[in-house]
Amino acid sequence: MIDASHDPALTSWVDVPPGHDFPIQNLPLGVFSVGGEAPRVGMAIGDHVVDLAGLAADGAIDPGLAPLVAGPVLNPLLADAAARRLMRTQVSALLVTSATHRTATSSRLWSRDDVTLDLPAAIGDYTDFYVGIHHATAIGKLFRPDQPLLPNYKYVPIGYHGRASTVRVSGTPVVRPNGQRKPPDGPPTYGPSRRLDFELELAIWLGGGNAMGQAIDIADAGAAVAGLGLLNDWSARDLQAWEYVPLGPFLAKSFATTVSPWIVTAEALAPFRIAQAERPDGDPKPLDYLWDSRDQAAGAFAIDLFADLIPAGGAPTRITRSAARHMYWTAAQMIAHHTSNGCALNPGDLLGSGTISGPSPEAAASLVELTAGGGAPLALAGGAARTFLEDGDEVVLTARANNDGYASIGFGECRGTVIPSA
Ligand code: CA
Repeated sequence: MIDASHDPALTSWVDVPPGHDFPIQNLPLGVFSVGGEAPRVGMAIGDHVVDLAGLAADGAIDPGLAPLVAGPVLNPLLADAAARRLMRTQVSALLVTSATHRTATSSRLWSRDDVTLDLPAAIGDYTDFYVGIHHATAIGKLFRPDQPLLPNYKYVPIGYHGRASTVRVSGTPVVRPNGQRKPPDGPPTYGPSRRLDFELELAIWLGGGNAMGQAIDIADAGAAVAGLGLLNDWSARDLQAWEYVPLGPFLAKSFATTVSPWIVTAEALAPFRIAQAERPDGDPKPLDYLWDSRDQAAGAFAIDLFADLIPAGGAPTRITRSAARHMYWTAAQMIAHHTSNGCALNPGDLLGSGTISGPSPEAAASLVELTAGGGAPLALAGGAARTFLEDGDEVVLTARANNDGYASIGFGECRGTVIPSA
């Protein structure tokens, strides 16, 4: 639903530098803390954070919203789409240039530099999908040159259950994992991963859920998405290659997952919904329980995705330029499939999209693809080169949603620096 809060002409009395990820048309949700105080929920505008519980205490927003922003996590607000819309409308009205009572609102405004950003939700469960078909094909070629995509791929939104316990907010260091590595010509050994990689993914934050035993219909599944963020599914390729048969990823990915702190809400993303890309000729039509014409018409997102690699003390190199339109399945299809067997999802649950590589080499969204499996080092600014991540390397994921006629909005950063094995 497009409303006055999306008007590209809106400006705020809060200073927002041109091109900033968080203009007044965005207002992403997050959790922040000040000093040693308890975390509280907020909205970002420019380089500032609005304290939503503070606004509620002042009576500046609808009293019905107060209980939803009273706690240290966003789960209650994620779960209530109508409340999210009302919150967005009311905070937008408080921040717009023509607003009165600026002084009261400004007393609830924090500078980004004075707060710590936390995980936005209590994540009950985390599932990582595999819907980037160009990534799945490229990875498949490395493991199975004769059959890159397995026959199930175009029928089943493939995923695996990840570990919510090791999801961390942007900025948390990533300890290089230890594990079993199997050289081609010798027995397995144990030690630090030598093929540590990143994966550029979208984080899908759930607002809806379902009782165990009851599937979410594809027609309703899109509304279960509360918002999107960025996700780095750090991956130890050497551990993965040795352990993945027959049950899929295990310790190669469960040591760390980084998410961006701000949830760009489904409401903010309304102007950036686009049709799901048509499947190439010859691909099967999804089965009925995964097919909804409205989802096909507007279930994808016009979001450009980027990854930068920064060696310790070095300059950033942009190593990936991709886009969310390369997802072979929509978020609604992932949710409908995930619940189709009766598996329960809950508000605050996290889904990863899977690595969203594009079809061209510069759109590859992991190092294993960018370096042809580690065989072709990637040149970085300043003369350095990488096959896989070295200790001290930082990976920064960013994204922008763009559509003609609307103010472009961004996602902030999803950062992580690799530190040596414990
Ligand atoms: Ca992944």
